[in-house]
Amino acid sequence: MKINEIFYSLQGEGHHTGTPAVFVRLSGCNLRCWFCDTDFEAGQEMSEDDIVSAVLQYPSRYVVITGGEPTLQLTASLCDKLHAHGCYLMLETNGTRPLPEGCRFDWITCSPKFVRVGEGFPIGHIDELKVVFEDSPSQDIALYEQIPASEYRLQPCDTQDPQRNQEIIEKTISYILQHPQWKLSLQTHKIVGVR
Ligand code: SF4
Repeated sequence: MKINEIFYSLQGEGHHTGTPAVFVRLSGCNLRCWFCDTDFEAGQEMSEDDIVSAVLQYPSRYVVITGGEPTLQLTASLCDKLHAHGCYLMLETNGTRPLPEGCRFDWITCSPKFVRVGEGFPIGHIDELKVVFEDSPSQDIALYEQIPASEYRLQPCDTQDPQRNQEIIEKTISYILQHPQWKLSLQTHKIVGVR
């Protein structure tokens, strides 16, 4: 399995914000989002046992499986091995692909990058739907509300332009106040300066 990086930090976004967790970033993605801030192409081959050993060197058993798009490579056997060591597995996916056969997760965050009207959604149960609010005429947030999920979060897009970011934050908050099924998600790791 090609791994981009494994590191220990705080979960910066969404429901588990502030939770110490080991991040396993799998290489490769099937999308090319304009706002992507992840170098997901680089990586090195690691065996499942090497991945488990790397995870277990840290004190937290919360594990974020992320990417890129982790469903491109993830296996049921890796999930089972991490679960056997008491890990709580949190998947972050863009929702364009079904989950790999037999993979079990304790929490699924889906961050869909686009939704096409009338198309089915390939993932069954979603704990948290996290949408990047782009403040673009081409993005209709109401479409995402048709995706079944336990929790809905809007996250202001980081454009790297402080003035534009502030506009987007204000519009995100305004939208949430008008549509209270959504909650605000902030990239707190960027605010406090951790990975
Ligand atoms: S789906 Fe995520 S990792 Fe892939 S290009 Fe988009 S933002 Fe980047």
